[in-house]
Amino acid sequence: MRHNKYKILLVEDEANIRNLVATVLDNAGYQTILATSCAGAKTLYASYTPDLIILDLGLPDADGMELLSFVRKESLTPIIVLSARTNETDKITALDMGANDYITKPFGSGELLARVRAALRNNRFSSHDGRLPGGRFILRELEIDYDARQVFLNAEEVKLTQTEYNILALLSENCGKMMTYASIIKAIWGDYTPEGSIKKLQVNMANIRKKIGDKPGETNFIANELGVGYRLNA
Ligand code: CA
Repeated sequence: MRHNKYKILLVEDEANIRNLVATVLDNAGYQTILATSCAGAKTLYASYTPDLIILDLGLPDADGMELLSFVRKESLTPIIVLSARTNETDKITALDMGANDYITKPFGSGELLARVRAALRNNRFSSHDGRLPGGRFILRELEIDYDARQVFLNAEEVKLTQTEYNILALLSENCGKMMTYASIIKAIWGDYTPEGSIKKLQVNMANIRKKIGDKPGETNFIANELGVGYRLNA
């Protein structure tokens, strides 16, 4: 099965964390390629074309954001940012620059593997026009028919407004990815306007979650990271 392994480029200068993450990934059956600097990571990225990149933001030779923008100019390879920073601004910047998700240190191996699986799956879902093959999206009991613009829960139609549908379709096209408030608002309303505000987004999102059966305080389909954004859980 060796030839079937996903290749993961791990960019982390701290030996302890690098060894820990590499061990967790190896044990889970992934092939791990290790880099300790931004320059080293660029070379390895070019020669190995990894399926996923796990990126520490604080690297000795450059900010991890530099590697993020370098990779995004070339490909949609999923990137999970490792951050010791609790600053929400850094997370939002990384997500808006094209990171798929982030994990704040310290993290458990279960959380790490869940994010890795979600990011790899997200990449499989995505197609170049942002649509899914076949025009249908299925996630457990939730089904979206993109051509008919209809949503079903347990095969029963869920009545959504146009805006609610557009938001849910956007999240589904980015399933598993944490979408920042700003990126959703920009995609749905064009930009920050009285129509496109965080408050308005939250109201729409509350309606969507109620309609697809998400209970407050529980994470079912849609996860909300306060102050950051929303993710449709793969
Ligand atoms: Ca570091």
